[in-house]
Amino acid sequence: MARPAKAIVNLEAVRHNYRLAASLCAPGLALAVVKANAYGHGAVAVAKTLEPLAPALGVACIEEAQELRAAGIVAPILLLEGIFTADEVAIAADQQFWLMLENDQQLSAVENAELIQPVKVWLKVDTGMHRLGLQVEQLKNSYARMQACQHVDSDIVIATHFACGDELDNDCSARQIACLKQAAEGLNAPLSLANSPGILGWPDARAEWNRPGFMLYGNTPFDVPQEQAEKLKPVMTLQSAVISVRDITAGESVGYAAKWTASRPSKIATIAMGYGDGYPRHAPNGTPVLVNGQRVPLVGRVSMDMITVDVTDLGSVAIGDEVILWGEELTANEIAAHAGTIGYEVLTRMPMRTPRIYIN
Ligand SMILES: *Cc1c(COP(=O)(O)O)cnc(C)c1O
Repeated sequence: MARPAKAIVNLEAVRHNYRLAASLCAPGLALAVVKANAYGHGAVAVAKTLEPLAPALGVACIEEAQELRAAGIVAPILLLEGIFTADEVAIAADQQFWLMLENDQQLSAVENAELIQPVKVWLKVDTGMHRLGLQVEQLKNSYARMQACQHVDSDIVIATHFACGDELDNDCSARQIACLKQAAEGLNAPLSLANSPGILGWPDARAEWNRPGFMLYGNTPFDVPQEQAEKLKPVMTLQSAVISVRDITAGESVGYAAKWTASRPSKIATIAMGYGDGYPRHAPNGTPVLVNGQRVPLVGRVSMDMITVDVTDLGSVAIGDEVILWGEELTANEIAAHAGTIGYEVLTRMPMRTPRIYIN
Protein backbone atom coordinates (compact mmCIF):
# COMPACT_ATOMS: atom_id res chain seq x y z
CA MET A 1 0.00 0.00 0.00
CA ALA A 2 1.06 3.56 -0.59
CA ARG A 3 1.64 5.83 -3.52
CA PRO A 4 5.17 5.13 -4.75
CA ALA A 5 6.40 8.75 -5.05
CA LYS A 6 9.17 9.40 -2.51
CA ALA A 7 12.45 11.20 -1.98
CA ILE A 8 15.21 8.96 -0.66
CA VAL A 9 17.77 11.03 1.24
CA ASN A 10 21.18 9.41 1.64
CA LEU A 11 22.66 10.83 4.83
CA GLU A 12 26.04 9.17 4.21
CA ALA A 13 26.29 11.27 1.04
CA VAL A 14 25.62 14.37 3.15
CA ARG A 15 28.52 13.41 5.42
CA HIS A 16 30.74 12.72 2.41
CA ASN A 17 29.96 16.10 0.87
CA TYR A 18 30.46 17.91 4.17
CA ARG A 19 33.83 16.21 4.64
CA LEU A 20 34.87 17.34 1.17
CA ALA A 21 33.89 20.92 2.05
CA ALA A 22 35.66 20.73 5.40
CA SER A 23 38.85 19.35 3.86
CA LEU A 24 38.95 22.09 1.24
CA CYS A 25 38.41 24.75 3.91
CA ALA A 26 40.91 23.40 6.43
CA PRO A 27 42.37 24.84 8.59
CA GLY A 28 39.36 27.13 8.25
CA LEU A 29 35.99 25.94 9.52
CA ALA A 30 32.92 24.96 7.52
CA LEU A 31 29.52 26.05 8.81
CA ALA A 32 26.85 23.78 7.33
CA VAL A 33 24.00 25.75 5.72
CA VAL A 34 20.66 24.00 6.25
CA LYS A 35 18.26 26.84 5.42
CA ALA A 36 15.01 26.28 3.53
CA ASN A 37 14.51 22.86 5.08
CA ALA A 38 18.08 21.89 4.13
CA TYR A 39 17.40 22.78 0.49
CA GLY A 40 14.36 20.52 0.55
CA HIS A 41 16.06 17.52 2.17
CA GLY A 42 14.71 17.96 5.72
CA ALA A 43 16.51 20.39 8.04
CA VAL A 44 16.23 18.37 11.23
CA ALA A 45 17.54 15.14 9.72
CA VAL A 46 20.41 16.88 7.93
CA ALA A 47 21.31 18.98 10.98
CA LYS A 48 21.35 15.89 13.19
CA THR A 49 23.60 14.16 10.66
CA LEU A 50 26.05 17.06 10.47
CA GLU A 51 26.01 18.21 14.09
CA PRO A 52 28.80 15.80 15.08
CA LEU A 53 30.98 17.07 12.21
CA ALA A 54 30.23 20.78 11.85
CA PRO A 55 31.18 23.49 14.36
CA ALA A 56 28.02 25.46 13.53
CA LEU A 57 24.96 25.49 11.27
CA GLY A 58 23.45 28.27 9.16
CA VAL A 59 19.81 29.14 8.43
CA ALA A 60 17.97 32.11 6.96
CA CYS A 61 15.89 33.18 9.94
CA ILE A 62 15.16 32.64 13.61
CA GLU A 63 12.10 30.47 12.93
CA GLU A 64 14.31 27.96 11.11
CA ALA A 65 16.81 28.03 13.99
CA GLN A 66 14.06 27.48 16.55
CA GLU A 67 12.82 24.45 14.65
CA LEU A 68 16.30 22.93 15.01
CA ARG A 69 16.55 23.77 18.73
CA ALA A 70 13.12 22.25 19.32
CA ALA A 71 14.40 19.07 17.69
CA GLY A 72 17.33 18.90 20.10
CA ILE A 73 20.11 20.44 18.01
CA VAL A 74 22.59 22.18 20.33
CA ALA A 75 25.23 23.47 17.87
CA PRO A 76 25.49 27.24 17.38
CA ILE A 77 23.28 28.42 14.51
CA LEU A 78 24.12 31.46 12.40
CA LEU A 79 21.12 33.47 11.19
CA LEU A 80 22.37 34.40 7.72
CA GLU A 81 20.04 37.38 7.39
CA GLY A 82 20.43 38.44 11.01
CA ILE A 83 17.31 39.74 12.71
CA PHE A 84 14.08 40.96 11.21
CA THR A 85 12.74 42.53 14.44
CA ALA A 86 14.59 43.85 17.50
CA ASP A 87 13.07 41.31 19.90
CA GLU A 88 14.98 38.55 18.12
CA VAL A 89 18.30 39.73 19.63
CA ALA A 90 17.48 38.51 23.13
CA ILE A 91 16.20 35.17 21.85
CA ALA A 92 19.38 34.79 19.81
CA ALA A 93 21.61 35.47 22.81
CA ASP A 94 19.64 33.05 24.93
CA GLN A 95 19.56 30.27 22.32
CA GLN A 96 23.11 30.60 20.98
CA PHE A 97 21.99 31.85 17.62
CA TRP A 98 24.69 33.94 15.97
CA LEU A 99 23.66 37.06 14.08
CA MET A 100 24.89 38.15 10.68
CA LEU A 101 24.41 41.93 10.91
CA GLU A 102 24.18 43.85 7.71
CA ASN A 103 22.80 47.32 8.38
CA ASP A 104 22.69 50.13 10.89
CA GLN A 105 19.25 49.24 12.24
CA GLN A 106 20.44 45.75 13.11
CA LEU A 107 23.55 47.14 14.83
CA SER A 108 21.41 49.52 16.87
CA ALA A 109 19.02 46.74 17.84
CA VAL A 110 21.97 44.75 19.18
CA GLU A 111 23.35 47.80 21.03
CA ASN A 112 19.99 48.59 22.58
CA ALA A 113 19.10 45.05 23.61
CA GLU A 114 19.21 44.09 27.26
CA LEU A 115 20.94 40.76 27.40
CA ILE A 116 21.94 38.42 30.15
CA GLN A 117 24.19 36.37 27.89
CA PRO A 118 26.52 37.83 25.25
CA VAL A 119 25.49 37.50 21.61
CA LYS A 120 27.91 36.52 18.86
CA VAL A 121 27.81 38.63 15.73
CA TRP A 122 29.18 38.50 12.21
CA LEU A 123 29.38 41.68 10.15
CA LYS A 124 28.38 41.37 6.53
CA VAL A 125 30.03 43.71 4.07
CA ASP A 126 28.66 44.58 0.63
CA THR A 127 31.65 43.95 -1.67
CA GLY A 128 29.71 44.02 -4.92
CA MET A 129 26.51 42.00 -4.75
CA HIS A 130 24.53 45.07 -3.64
CA ARG A 131 21.75 43.16 -1.96
CA LEU A 132 22.71 43.16 1.74
CA GLY A 133 25.65 44.34 3.78
CA LEU A 134 27.40 47.28 5.35
CA GLN A 135 29.15 49.66 3.00
CA VAL A 136 32.88 49.07 2.88
CA GLU A 137 33.47 52.52 4.43
CA GLN A 138 31.11 51.68 7.32
CA LEU A 139 32.94 48.53 8.36
CA LYS A 140 35.61 49.90 10.70
CA ASN A 141 33.14 52.05 12.59
CA SER A 142 30.61 49.20 12.82
CA TYR A 143 33.29 46.84 14.05
CA ALA A 144 34.36 49.36 16.72
CA ARG A 145 30.74 49.78 17.82
CA MET A 146 30.29 46.04 18.25
CA GLN A 147 33.61 45.70 20.06
CA ALA A 148 32.59 48.46 22.43
CA CYS A 149 29.26 46.80 23.15
CA GLN A 150 29.48 44.95 26.47
CA HIS A 151 27.05 42.21 25.53
CA VAL A 152 28.61 41.35 22.16
CA ASP A 153 31.10 38.48 22.04
CA SER A 154 34.51 39.97 21.22
CA ASP A 155 35.20 37.38 18.49
CA ILE A 156 33.53 39.15 15.56
CA VAL A 157 33.61 37.56 12.08
CA ILE A 158 33.69 39.74 8.97
CA ALA A 159 31.83 38.25 6.03
CA THR A 160 30.74 38.84 2.49
CA HIS A 161 28.80 36.92 -0.17
CA PHE A 162 29.67 36.30 -3.81
CA ALA A 163 27.51 37.48 -6.68
CA CYS A 164 29.15 35.40 -9.44
CA GLY A 165 30.98 32.60 -7.62
CA ASP A 166 29.57 30.00 -9.99
CA GLU A 167 31.15 31.73 -13.01
CA LEU A 168 34.71 30.46 -12.93
CA ASP A 169 35.89 32.78 -15.70
CA ASN A 170 34.36 35.91 -14.17
CA ASP A 171 36.86 38.02 -12.18
CA CYS A 172 34.04 39.49 -10.07
CA SER A 173 34.81 37.04 -7.24
CA ALA A 174 38.51 37.93 -7.21
CA ARG A 175 37.53 41.59 -6.92
CA GLN A 176 35.15 40.82 -4.05
CA ILE A 177 37.87 38.85 -2.23
CA ALA A 178 40.33 41.74 -2.60
CA CYS A 179 37.68 44.22 -1.52
CA LEU A 180 36.85 42.34 1.69
CA LYS A 181 40.49 41.78 2.60
CA GLN A 182 41.19 45.46 2.13
CA ALA A 183 38.11 46.52 4.10
CA ALA A 184 39.08 44.26 7.02
CA GLU A 185 42.76 45.20 7.00
CA GLY A 186 44.13 45.94 10.44
CA LEU A 187 41.12 44.55 12.28
CA ASN A 188 42.69 41.15 12.86
CA ALA A 189 39.24 39.54 12.64
CA PRO A 190 38.34 36.11 11.23
CA LEU A 191 36.89 36.32 7.71
CA SER A 192 34.14 34.39 5.91
CA LEU A 193 33.59 34.65 2.18
CA ALA A 194 32.97 31.28 0.57
CA ASN A 195 29.66 29.63 -0.22
CA SER A 196 29.74 26.36 -2.22
CA PRO A 197 31.18 27.79 -5.44
CA GLY A 198 33.72 29.75 -3.39
CA ILE A 199 34.87 26.65 -1.52
CA LEU A 200 35.08 24.48 -4.63
CA GLY A 201 36.34 26.92 -7.20
CA TRP A 202 37.99 29.90 -5.54
CA PRO A 203 40.89 28.83 -3.28
CA ASP A 204 41.58 32.46 -2.32
CA ALA A 205 38.05 32.68 -0.94
CA ARG A 206 38.64 30.02 1.70
CA ALA A 207 39.12 31.67 5.09
CA GLU A 208 38.65 31.15 8.84
CA TRP A 209 34.94 30.47 8.32
CA ASN A 210 33.23 29.09 5.22
CA ARG A 211 29.56 28.55 4.45
CA PRO A 212 28.84 25.48 2.28
CA GLY A 213 25.16 24.97 1.41
CA PHE A 214 24.17 23.55 -1.96
CA MET A 215 27.30 21.38 -2.30
CA LEU A 216 26.32 19.45 0.84
CA TYR A 217 23.38 18.07 -1.13
CA GLY A 218 25.66 16.70 -3.82
CA ASN A 219 24.99 18.68 -6.96
CA THR A 220 27.58 20.96 -8.49
CA PRO A 221 26.99 24.70 -8.32
CA PHE A 222 28.79 25.10 -11.67
CA ASP A 223 27.41 24.51 -15.13
CA VAL A 224 30.80 23.37 -16.42
CA PRO A 225 32.83 20.37 -15.18
CA GLN A 226 34.98 21.29 -12.18
CA GLU A 227 37.57 19.08 -10.51
CA GLN A 228 36.41 19.32 -6.88
CA ALA A 229 32.72 19.32 -7.75
CA GLU A 230 33.17 15.97 -9.52
CA LYS A 231 33.70 14.43 -6.07
CA LEU A 232 30.23 15.37 -4.79
CA LYS A 233 27.61 12.65 -4.30
CA PRO A 234 23.94 13.47 -4.95
CA VAL A 235 21.97 13.08 -1.74
CA MET A 236 18.37 12.90 -2.96
CA THR A 237 16.90 10.25 -5.22
CA LEU A 238 13.42 11.22 -6.32
CA GLN A 239 11.73 7.94 -7.07
CA SER A 240 8.37 6.57 -8.12
CA ALA A 241 6.83 3.86 -10.27
CA VAL A 242 4.89 3.21 -13.43
CA ILE A 243 1.15 3.14 -12.64
CA SER A 244 -0.28 2.63 -16.14
CA VAL A 245 0.89 1.55 -19.61
CA ARG A 246 -0.97 1.97 -22.92
CA ASP A 247 -0.46 1.87 -26.68
CA ILE A 248 -1.56 4.79 -28.82
CA THR A 249 -1.59 5.17 -32.59
CA ALA A 250 0.31 7.77 -34.61
CA GLY A 251 -1.47 11.13 -34.49
CA GLU A 252 -2.89 10.71 -30.99
CA SER A 253 -1.91 13.15 -28.23
CA VAL A 254 -1.03 12.81 -24.57
CA GLY A 255 -1.97 14.82 -21.51
CA TYR A 256 -3.35 18.29 -20.73
CA ALA A 257 -3.62 20.62 -23.72
CA ALA A 258 -2.46 17.75 -25.96
CA LYS A 259 1.07 19.14 -25.95
CA TRP A 260 2.66 16.02 -27.46
CA THR A 261 1.45 14.03 -30.43
CA ALA A 262 2.76 10.60 -31.37
CA SER A 263 4.49 10.50 -34.75
CA ARG A 264 4.47 6.69 -34.72
CA PRO A 265 2.56 3.96 -32.88
CA SER A 266 3.77 4.55 -29.30
CA LYS A 267 3.78 2.99 -25.86
CA ILE A 268 3.10 5.49 -23.10
CA ALA A 269 3.84 4.87 -19.43
CA THR A 270 2.21 6.99 -16.73
CA ILE A 271 4.21 7.66 -13.56
CA ALA A 272 3.00 8.71 -10.12
CA MET A 273 4.96 11.96 -10.00
CA GLY A 274 3.90 15.51 -10.72
CA TYR A 275 4.47 19.11 -9.81
CA GLY A 276 2.64 18.40 -6.54
CA ASP A 277 5.57 16.14 -5.69
CA GLY A 278 8.27 18.64 -6.63
CA TYR A 279 8.81 17.69 -10.28
CA PRO A 280 9.06 20.97 -12.23
CA ARG A 281 5.95 21.71 -14.25
CA HIS A 282 7.99 23.46 -16.92
CA ALA A 283 9.98 20.33 -17.80
CA PRO A 284 9.38 20.09 -21.56
CA ASN A 285 8.85 17.14 -23.90
CA GLY A 286 12.12 15.24 -24.11
CA THR A 287 13.25 15.78 -20.50
CA PRO A 288 14.95 12.49 -19.49
CA VAL A 289 13.35 10.11 -16.98
CA LEU A 290 14.88 6.80 -15.85
CA VAL A 291 12.52 3.85 -16.23
CA ASN A 292 14.15 0.60 -15.10
CA GLY A 293 17.45 2.47 -15.24
CA GLN A 294 17.05 3.57 -18.88
CA ARG A 295 16.55 7.09 -20.14
CA VAL A 296 13.21 7.75 -21.78
CA PRO A 297 11.70 11.08 -22.83
CA LEU A 298 8.96 12.90 -20.95
CA VAL A 299 6.02 13.46 -23.28
CA GLY A 300 3.05 15.72 -22.62
CA ARG A 301 2.56 18.22 -19.85
CA VAL A 302 3.57 17.58 -16.26
CA SER A 303 0.35 17.26 -14.23
CA MET A 304 -0.02 17.75 -10.49
CA ASP A 305 0.20 14.04 -9.68
CA MET A 306 1.40 12.36 -12.88
CA ILE A 307 3.79 12.52 -15.79
CA THR A 308 3.83 10.50 -18.99
CA VAL A 309 6.86 9.11 -20.80
CA ASP A 310 7.42 7.46 -24.19
CA VAL A 311 8.64 3.91 -23.56
CA THR A 312 8.19 2.65 -27.12
CA ASP A 313 11.89 1.82 -27.41
CA LEU A 314 12.22 0.18 -24.01
CA GLY A 315 11.11 -3.39 -24.52
CA SER A 316 8.78 -4.54 -21.80
CA VAL A 317 7.45 -2.05 -19.28
CA ALA A 318 4.89 -2.94 -16.63
CA ILE A 319 2.91 -1.37 -13.83
CA GLY A 320 5.14 -1.16 -10.77
CA ASP A 321 8.40 -0.71 -12.67
CA GLU A 322 10.87 1.57 -10.93
CA VAL A 323 11.24 5.18 -12.04
CA ILE A 324 13.91 7.66 -11.00
CA LEU A 325 13.30 11.33 -11.67
CA TRP A 326 16.68 12.46 -10.35
CA GLY A 327 19.51 11.04 -8.30
CA GLU A 328 23.00 9.78 -9.08
CA GLU A 329 22.62 8.75 -12.73
CA LEU A 330 20.45 11.71 -13.67
CA THR A 331 21.05 14.82 -11.60
CA ALA A 332 18.57 17.34 -10.27
CA ASN A 333 20.72 19.95 -12.02
CA GLU A 334 20.09 18.25 -15.37
CA ILE A 335 16.33 18.21 -14.87
CA ALA A 336 16.43 21.81 -13.67
CA ALA A 337 18.30 22.85 -16.81
CA HIS A 338 15.61 21.29 -19.00
CA ALA A 339 12.98 23.19 -17.00
CA GLY A 340 14.83 26.50 -17.33
CA THR A 341 15.91 26.72 -13.70
CA ILE A 342 18.70 25.54 -11.38
CA GLY A 343 19.14 22.57 -9.06
CA TYR A 344 18.93 24.91 -6.06
CA GLU A 345 15.34 25.73 -6.97
CA VAL A 346 14.01 22.27 -7.81
CA LEU A 347 15.44 20.78 -4.59
CA THR A 348 14.32 23.66 -2.37
CA ARG A 349 10.80 23.50 -3.80
CA MET A 350 10.30 19.88 -2.78
CA PRO A 351 6.90 19.92 -1.07
CA MET A 352 5.83 18.38 2.22
CA ARG A 353 3.67 15.84 0.42
CA THR A 354 6.61 13.82 -0.86
CA PRO A 355 7.76 11.48 1.89
CA ARG A 356 11.46 11.78 2.75
CA ILE A 357 12.98 8.37 3.39
CA TYR A 358 16.30 8.63 5.23
CA ILE A 359 18.94 6.00 4.64
CA ASN A 360 22.44 5.47 6.13
C1 LIG B 1 22.57 30.40 1.24
C2 LIG B 1 23.82 31.04 1.69
C3 LIG B 1 25.04 30.35 1.66
C4 LIG B 1 25.18 28.98 1.03
O1 LIG B 1 25.29 29.15 -0.35
P1 LIG B 1 25.45 27.89 -1.33
O2 LIG B 1 25.68 28.49 -2.67
O3 LIG B 1 24.17 27.15 -1.24
O4 LIG B 1 26.60 27.11 -0.81
C5 LIG B 1 26.16 30.98 2.17
N1 LIG B 1 26.08 32.23 2.67
C6 LIG B 1 24.94 32.93 2.71
C7 LIG B 1 24.95 34.31 3.26
C8 LIG B 1 23.78 32.38 2.21
O5 LIG B 1 22.65 33.08 2.25
